[in-house]
Amino acid sequence: MNVDSLEVEKFSKLAHLWWDPNSEFRPLHEINPLRLEWINAHVALSGKTVLDVGCGGGILAESMAKKGAHVTGIDLSEKALKIADLHSLESGIQIHYEMVAAEELAVRQPHHYDVVTCMEMLEHVPNPDAIVQACARLVKPGGYVFFSTLNRNPKSYLFAILGAEYLLGLLPKGTHDYAKFITPAELSQFTRNAGLRTTALKGMTYNPLLKIYSLNQDTSVNYMMACQSNNND
Ligand code: SAH
Repeated sequence: MNVDSLEVEKFSKLAHLWWDPNSEFRPLHEINPLRLEWINAHVALSGKTVLDVGCGGGILAESMAKKGAHVTGIDLSEKALKIADLHSLESGIQIHYEMVAAEELAVRQPHHYDVVTCMEMLEHVPNPDAIVQACARLVKPGGYVFFSTLNRNPKSYLFAILGAEYLLGLLPKGTHDYAKFITPAELSQFTRNAGLRTTALKGMTYNPLLKIYSLNQDTSVNYMMACQSNNND
């Protein structure tokens, strides 16, 4: 199966902290409004059927449901899903969470979703290409797929690993493995092979002095990619 159990274990261990905005998950809380608005600007989420792949504790999933989307969240961390479920009950937001691999769901529900999101997850799996394929199969023809991950170059090593994990302590040491980072060219190759057309690329940067994230054209460290399905099979 296309999963690194040590990676999933890292997230399971911290899962109880998922909704604490001052915890290790702080960066996800802080980038969430930015990515949510970026997604919503491409495809108005209200009324759409959305799948969030690698949803973790549900930060993005809940925010998309608040925009009026019908959201399903999948992950392979049972603990993260339990936290996600409890939190959605507390928030009074209806989301369907399920522990299932994207590849498996793609067999069960081909071309089912208007929108598929897969954020901050590809850099944690052994074979990201297969996840991209599964996302492409899960989305309806003409639907949108959004990815975000970390670029791979000396600057991203410096910022995402040395900076975020060692100097600033934004993330626990060992959160990311440089070798698993994915360049936009590699991700584009995966999406193209999967029958997706890249429609936009956006960079996300962190200013350590102001302690704020912003979206811009700098894709050298964190970036997001929007794709549209042209797959009619
Ligand atoms: N997408 C969420 C969480 C990112 S953290 C967000 O951006 O807010 C990465 C998540 O990927 C974790 O919840 C982890 O359990 C999950 N994950 C890692 N490998 C996975 C796999 N093979 N299949 C599904 N989820 C996976």
